Amino acid sequence: MRAGDRIGTLAWNGYRHLELYYGVSGMGAVTHTINPRLFADQIAYIVNHAEDAYVFFDLTFVPLVEKLAPQCPGVRGWVAMTDRAHVPQARLAKLLCYEDLLGAENGDYAWPQFDEWAASGLCYTSGTTGNPKGTLYAHRTTVLHAYAASLPDVFNVSAREVILPVVPMFHVNSWGVAYLAPMNGAKLVLPGAGLDGKSLYELFETEGVTVTAGVPTVWLGLLAYVAEHGLRFSSLRRAVVGGSACPPAMITRFAELGVECIHAWGMTEMSPLGSFGMLKGKHLGMPPEQQFEKRVKQGRAIFGVEMKIVDGAGRELPRDGKAFGDLLVRGPWVTCGYFKGEGGDILRDGWFPTGDVATIDPDGYMQITDRSKDVIKSGGEWISSIELENIAVAHPAIAEAAAIGAAHPKWDERPLIVAVRKAGAEVTREELLTFYEGKVAKWWIPDDVVFVEALPHTATGKLLKTQLRQEFAKHKLPTA
Ligand code: AMP
Repeated sequence: MRAGDRIGTLAWNGYRHLELYYGVSGMGAVTHTINPRLFADQIAYIVNHAEDAYVFFDLTFVPLVEKLAPQCPGVRGWVAMTDRAHVPQARLAKLLCYEDLLGAENGDYAWPQFDEWAASGLCYTSGTTGNPKGTLYAHRTTVLHAYAASLPDVFNVSAREVILPVVPMFHVNSWGVAYLAPMNGAKLVLPGAGLDGKSLYELFETEGVTVTAGVPTVWLGLLAYVAEHGLRFSSLRRAVVGGSACPPAMITRFAELGVECIHAWGMTEMSPLGSFGMLKGKHLGMPPEQQFEKRVKQGRAIFGVEMKIVDGAGRELPRDGKAFGDLLVRGPWVTCGYFKGEGGDILRDGWFPTGDVATIDPDGYMQITDRSKDVIKSGGEWISSIELENIAVAHPAIAEAAAIGAAHPKWDERPLIVAVRKAGAEVTREELLTFYEGKVAKWWIPDDVVFVEALPHTATGKLLKTQLRQEFAKHKLPTA
């Protein structure tokens, strides 16, 4: 490998993956983490677009790598992340063994010095449309992001904490945890492929985990397991939730278990952290309901990140917690363009348009009301799909829900809820609609509910609304 080479990884959160994070970037090459949950064709596109020189893979991904290899002729070697005894019988011409490569070196290596703007990592966004686009991180941006992520109102991780990132190292640098844990001397616990409720709970308990981070879907599994077996956490104190909106009910459920649930927001293009939802001193004396109003929001900008919301004409909107508009950000770890110039000049007067729609309140707490593509536009007014989903999942019989705009002859779009019932639970369409009364303005109450067995998700665990909108394109609303 040479400085500047892109080195792909297809791996879970494990120690060899961590070694690659430091070994590859430390020698001046670029750690290119690949999301194995994408379709094989998309992964092949990404490997070729990045021109990966080598790809390191966990044994789980042997079948995937066998499919990829013929489509990626530029890859000089596929490295199985294992020792000689476990090298798979794979149909791969250029197969190498990780521990053999390491074993051949004497460990005496002088780390090179290079420009702080040299690239350290690369991660492609799994957009719901078009080809994935790469965000290239520099040593400078990665280190600044890791410092910021360690701040007291962000991860607040010291050498006395035990942190378990459920958020994958294969997507957005495990929210910086793979960097901030060693930086602060915290014990880092890596879960491998075992992300079900039982495996995670047992690992939390045996390793004395105090802080964790992940997407809501993972926590639903963990909380269900804990409830089913009447368990409590003996060491866990904080759970950071992001990647998708944290359902308010999840914050309450964690609190009942003695765990502070912290809502965070960010994106691939932001390394990824943008905001964290810790309370301020003035909120501590407030009644729990008022504290809760702050906790459900995505939080305050982390020092280094600036945020503003603007209307369709680009005029800045007030920070009153009510006005909502396009969220723009800038800062030292926010991208200014995609890898190889894909998508052209993406900044708006130096600000990165996040594609999210949000409010910002006078205390600086930002709240995402939608992806700009997902807002439901009823009679020219906007309805927040996230708020409607949060209410649906607060119903005791609902496991998961998506709110999408369904075509309406008079209002253009009206909200439709597509929901999954909890196993064994009963709830009718009418009961769920009644549940909205008094919780939102009358005109926000959905027009219809459809129950399904499961909802489609993207490779990063977000609801795949483009697919839902296609599936329900011809849905006839009873109000139409
Ligand atoms: P990704 O680049 O895959 O991390 O996706 C970033 C996008 O995920 C953001 O632009 C948001 O739309 C969404 N997202 C991340 N965190 C949150 C959150 N806490 N609440 C709502 N949406 C979120």
